[in-house]
Amino acid sequence: MLWIGPAGVPLSCKGRTPLEGVQHCQELGLNAMELQFVRGVRMDDEYAKQVGTLAKELGVKISAHAPYYTNLAADDDKIVQKSIDKITLTARVADLLGSDVVVCHPGFYTSLTKKETLKKAVGSLEAILQYFEEGKFKVKLGLEVMGKQQTFGDLDEVLAMCQEVSGVVPVIDFGHVHARTNGGLKTTADFQEVFDKFEPLKMSNWYTYFTGITYSNGSELHHVPIKKGDLDFDKLVEVILDQDYDVTIISNSPIIEHDAMFMKIHIERMLERRGVGGGPVQHEDS
Ligand SMILES: [Zn+2]
Repeated sequence: MLWIGPAGVPLSCKGRTPLEGVQHCQELGLNAMELQFVRGVRMDDEYAKQVGTLAKELGVKISAHAPYYTNLAADDDKIVQKSIDKITLTARVADLLGSDVVVCHPGFYTSLTKKETLKKAVGSLEAILQYFEEGKFKVKLGLEVMGKQQTFGDLDEVLAMCQEVSGVVPVIDFGHVHARTNGGLKTTADFQEVFDKFEPLKMSNWYTYFTGITYSNGSELHHVPIKKGDLDFDKLVEVILDQDYDVTIISNSPIIEHDAMFMKIHIERMLERRGVGGGPVQHEDS
């Protein structure tokens, strides 16, 4: 099964509310939408439940992204605590929304060594998961692979954190992986390798991002429309279809829902070529 949708309320959606966004995604034939609480969490409980109910009715898989500025591995405990608070606050709303995953940024290096950074992050993650447990949250905490070599959170570090703390899952941002490896994702084998990296976690479904991206020296520069970048979406789809993976792909390109539609069309075309009718981008019966 493939779940495709935009990072945030679609740009073409006249109403700017999550409720209207979900409706609009369904009208576009998309079956996922990520709500972005990038600058803070302002949504009351009743409204969150309403959005979750509508999304379920319309077969749109909803998810949430915590504020961008978080550092679970800082040398400054005040920053770590603030980050934990931001993430748990988002997670609470995400859980009310019925989201499977709440995505967060692990952080960045400070004065600590790489080993200490990882240890610090694991401690913070344990505190967050403790909160999840107390709240009986169903949502999982997703750790995003970051897009700069000098930023904490490469594939190995994300894997290590997921292995250390149960309830934490990897979030593969293919644009970020591509930038970090200076354009390393070229062939289907390259994409397969990324999934294989997480083999020890025995994942049954994946949460990912896709965009065109520009990069230099192992760092992302800009997200660009898929057509303007050198990251080949079809190669990813080959792997997903070959392996029959269950994957959510959130478009975080600057033309968010347009590129989500681009992805959907490409998937449908590739399925046709394989002689598979219908298409995986369907709406789940609720
Ligand atoms: Zn992110």
